[in-house]
Amino acid sequence: MFQVSCAACNASFEYNVDDYIHLCPYCSTGFILDLEEGAKDIIGDHFIVPNRMDREQVEGIFYDWITERYHRPDKVKQEFKILGSYGISLPHWVISVEAHTFWSGHSQKLNQYSGQGSEYGSKFLKEESRFSRRYRWSILARKSPKEHWGLERLHRPKEQLMVDWDGYPLDETLGLIKGATVTTIYDARQAFKFDHANGLSIAGVQVKESSAIARAKDQIQEYHRRIAKTKVGTLYEHRTEIEVVGIHLVHLPFWVVRYSFAPQSPFRFMTTARERRILIQGHTLAVLEAELPLSSSDKVMTNMVVCGGLAVASLALALFFHPLFFLMVMVFSGVCVLSAWKIFGREKVDTDLGRGADLSEPVF
Ligand SMILES: [Zn+2]
Repeated sequence: MFQVSCAACNASFEYNVDDYIHLCPYCSTGFILDLEEGAKDIIGDHFIVPNRMDREQVEGIFYDWITERYHRPDKVKQEFKILGSYGISLPHWVISVEAHTFWSGHSQKLNQYSGQGSEYGSKFLKEESRFSRRYRWSILARKSPKEHWGLERLHRPKEQLMVDWDGYPLDETLGLIKGATVTTIYDARQAFKFDHANGLSIAGVQVKESSAIARAKDQIQEYHRRIAKTKVGTLYEHRTEIEVVGIHLVHLPFWVVRYSFAPQSPFRFMTTARERRILIQGHTLAVLEAELPLSSSDKVMTNMVVCGGLAVASLALALFFHPLFFLMVMVFSGVCVLSAWKIFGREKVDTDLGRGADLSEPVF
């Protein structure tokens, strides 16, 4: 470990060589150290959203959440147990942007008027339009989004499209604050102080703002391209101009909770894993991501196994008793094949998770 003295209060502390910004544990000042010159550059615009959760609350939030979703609320306390939990305050670059998109393409005409069907061109409708959005796009300032469970794909757009990026619009993703004077998580930020983590450890800042901006721009480009594609049959052209209005460093609290699920019904032979996790926002207390106790594929799996068994039994009956049972073999194996097809073709998205209200506003 290496020692550095704080750029503001001069106290010396050990620093991590992976960090891009060093945070003084005594006065909470953040600064960038130029290792060759020894120069220290104090950063401004560093905020923290206070952690509002402790270990005792984890249980209440978890049981409220699972009781709403589990088909036997009375059994929840017996079948679900919390195995462990931890909270951490993670740095994010929050980039305020305005994104303006122009797109053009064509769609097939739905209504054909008589006499128009013969001409090729008239079957298609050329369409073009533009739209604009404003975001506070949030990029994790750690080298890997896999470091803590659940942070990889937090963005759940209201449009029906696939997401394969890790950034997200801050307020609509992390939930709203109930019963407080400020409702969005961004408005709950305060000047950075270690004390506001309220007992959580503070993760260091490893990512430069320039690379965070580049990643945010890429992600918004791609997001808007996919939005444009939902509006038209074939997308010809797409241009998104992104204007960066501001960038802030914000530490945000998250809690990872591990729980076990031991059903008392015969389902226990069918579940795929014993230990599951949920991710809770430490300020809004919203459940952001979760491994559900019985995912739909568990149920379909049960279906597949049961129908497979029935198909085999019917086959035996058909061979030794009456050929009419072949009909049942066909029905059961049909259901079995359909179930298998559903498991392997499913999308790995829980549409069950609710988030905060839609806060993105159109620019015009
Ligand atoms: Zn200091």
